[in-house]
Amino acid sequence: MKNRAIFFDRDGILNDLVYHNTTREYEPPHNPTELIIIPDAINVIKILQKENYLLIVISNQPDYAKGKTSFENLLNVHKKLESVFLSEKISFSHYYYCYHHPDGIIASHSIICECRKPEPYFLFQAAVDFSIDLNQSWMIGDRDTDIECGKRAGVKTILINYPFSKGNRGNSYPDYVVENIYEIIPIINMENNENNDE
Ligand SMILES: [Mg+2]
Ligand SMILES: [Zn+2]
Repeated sequence: MKNRAIFFDRDGILNDLVYHNTTREYEPPHNPTELIIIPDAINVIKILQKENYLLIVISNQPDYAKGKTSFENLLNVHKKLESVFLSEKISFSHYYYCYHHPDGIIASHSIICECRKPEPYFLFQAAVDFSIDLNQSWMIGDRDTDIECGKRAGVKTILINYPFSKGNRGNSYPDYVVENIYEIIPIINMENNENNDE
């Protein structure tokens, strides 16, 4: 029997976005001290973890390519994130990161790649790596690109309407739209039970 997975976008879903005075925009954390994991996300994931889903992060991280931070800083953010989750006894099966951007300024990473959301590349990769049934799986995100990525991979999609990412959505058709992350629990459980009844 194949595994089921919940794919999570990272920035804005698992950790807070950070207001940067220089760009006047909410950005992903550019160094470990800027990383704040959202307590509600920890609570929700602890509950879902008991439901036998694999937990996987799918994240675009273009800010090194854009020249906004060093690659080392990005890696240190990832390390801190992983260690916080481990200390909470939350184990993600894998973190898939795309470091590219088509319009970056660091030549080596400024390419049109196949792994940047909305490309579904990492979901298909995860399906192979972890023997996942995508039809029984979910994508949780706060932007249209997360939803489009999920739909193209054939997973069910939930958009969380967080205010800080408002400008990055409105043109996708998620299966569900919620206002906060707690609402994903009954939705996933409901569909899970329906499938078990079949
Ligand atoms: Mg996001
Ligand atoms: Zn990429």
